[in-house]
This record gives sequence, structure tokens and C-alpha cells, in this order.
Amino acid sequence: MINLISDTVTKPTPGMLEAMMQAEVGDDVFGEDPTVNALEKKVAEMFGKESALYCPSGTMTNQIAIKAHTQPLDEVICDEYSHIYQYETAGYAYNSGVGINLIKGENGKITAEQIAAAIKPRYDWLPISRLVVLENTCNKGGGSHYTLDEIRPIQTLCREKGLALHLDGARLFNALVETGESTQEVGAHFDSVSLCLSKGLGAPVGSVLIGTSAFIQQARRLRKVMGGGMRQAGYLAAACIYALDHQVERLREDNERARRIGEVLSSLGYVESVRPVRSNILIFDLQEGLTADAYLAYLKEMGVLASAFGPQTVRFVTHLDFTEEMLPKVVGALQRFKR
Ligand SMILES: *Cc1c(COP(=O)(O)O)cnc(C)c1O
Repeated sequence: MINLISDTVTKPTPGMLEAMMQAEVGDDVFGEDPTVNALEKKVAEMFGKESALYCPSGTMTNQIAIKAHTQPLDEVICDEYSHIYQYETAGYAYNSGVGINLIKGENGKITAEQIAAAIKPRYDWLPISRLVVLENTCNKGGGSHYTLDEIRPIQTLCREKGLALHLDGARLFNALVETGESTQEVGAHFDSVSLCLSKGLGAPVGSVLIGTSAFIQQARRLRKVMGGGMRQAGYLAAACIYALDHQVERLREDNERARRIGEVLSSLGYVESVRPVRSNILIFDLQEGLTADAYLAYLKEMGVLASAFGPQTVRFVTHLDFTEEMLPKVVGALQRFKR
């Protein structure tokens, strides 16, 4: 089976497993796991920030960031497609007691003008707009990505208005291999950054939250109360270090394979439209009368797994375990489909 359901399905490579086996570990709740400490230091330095925190998931890094940046009765401004709104079980309300102010962006991307219009005036009866969250790449936006030229005016606005700016960078490196921008530049544009190592980067578990020392100190307490204090987590952190050292540049290949599948789909009669392919996520709509469920059942018979993103919408995600040799099999299955 070729699994294109998500880039979270990847398994550690032999080199990564070897690095995990060799890891030096300790009790990270006491701050004594050298490998976790090395990962946190490495990522903080990559982004030009003071400190970082290793967490079990990207949901936890986002939820901690929201909690650390806000007070109850505040609100978070983000695009309606944002992961923090769509896929984190309304955790912003549950964990932080904040509201959410959704913007209808373009493929998950919002502008400084839209944010300026969304910021609420200070009245007793309104929530206080306190935090802006951008997502790069944007999952539900079809892997769309920002450039720093688009982010700069947003940062300027947030500074002027006293709002914090957080980046949900679950797939940030899929964007950076496209734009050629550096992690240092990204770090300089945000108050905090969340990074997933368990997506295209191929580590089995974990995300990192990056920010100032004071922010991360508070984040560490919040990680504990959420049950995310892990002990000999260095075995997992070793996989993350390995991923950052060996599996960043190859994300280009994932993006490229998604583009090639997108080109094939664009030429097929049963496809209504293919959303612009900007990274490793490919979303397309089927023509009238053809359901995603029926199409996915056909693909499964052909040995290809994908997911429905709406009644007539399908999503493919390319990743480390989807190799060049598998591409012709997928393309063949797409081309042979008869409605
Ligand atoms: C996957 C993802 C997350 C967090 O995912 P976990 O599964 O909790 O690690 C956050 N934001 C985006 C955009 C994601 O795609």
C-alpha cells in the first residue's frame, strides 16, 4: 500500500533508529536529559531565539503558546482554516478560556489589512484581541505558504497594537525549501514558533516550541500541567536531531512529487480543479456526480491510500516514505480511473 493520507505516517529510517539507540538520556523533568537539552539548544539557535521546549505534539506546542500569550476573556485572531481552530478540539477555549476571531483568508493566508480590521476596540463588553496565529504551510489551505515579505507588515501591525504573533510552523521547512528563506529570518518575525518533527521531517514523535527564555520558562510549567513532562525523552529527541541534520533538504523532493501528481490530475477529465500546489499537500475537487468516497475506494483497490477533504474533495500528502519508484504506480492509478 502507498499511503498518502498524511506525512505523519512516516517511520524512522535505519540511520534515525541508530541515532535513537545511541542517545544519551536522563530525566528531562529535572532538565537532565542531555539529548533533549541538545535538541532544544539546537533549535533555539537555528531560529535565533533564546530558548526552546520539546513537547509530545504540535497540538501541545500550539496550546501552550496560546495559553502563555493570553489571559481568559482575550481572543486569538487567525484564518478560518487554521489548525488551532479546526483540529485542536476547541482547546483554545478549554485550556485558555479565550475566544477566536476568524478571518476568511486566501487558501489559509491572511493579510495585515485583514488583521487590522479584525482587531477589536477596547470596550468592557468585547474580548481583548491579544494574539495572532499564522500557519505556514497551511494544511487546510492546500499547503499554501507565506513569504517573509507578506509576514513583515503583520509583525509591524502586531507590534504597534501590542499583540503577540505566533507561528504554527508544523510544516515550516516545506515552505522554507521553496522560498529559500532562513530559520533565523523566520525567528526574527515571530514571538514564538511551533515546529513539528513528526511530519515530513520523519521523526516518530515530537514538536518544539521556540521563544524567549521567560516565555519558555512559563511554557515548561504549562507542559507539565498538560501532562507533557517526559522522562528519558532523549531517545525521541535524538530522532528529531537526526531529522534536522539529514532530512530537511529532501523535503524539496516531496514538494516536487506533489507538483508532478498535480500536473497529471489537471489533465484528467474527472477532476474539476486542482488547488495550487505550493508544497507537499495536494487538494483537488472531483467533477459533479463523483464522490470522494467512491474515488478513494477505487484508489485503495489500486493500492493507494488518500483522504477525503470534503464530499467531493481529496487530499494527497507526499512524504519521506513515498519514493520516486512509487510515483508511476500512483500516476497509473489516477490515469486508469473510469467513472
Ligand atoms: C499536524 C499539525 C499540528 C499539530 O499536530 P500534532 O498531530 O498534534 O503533532 C499543528 N498544526 C498544523 C498545521 C498541523 O498540520
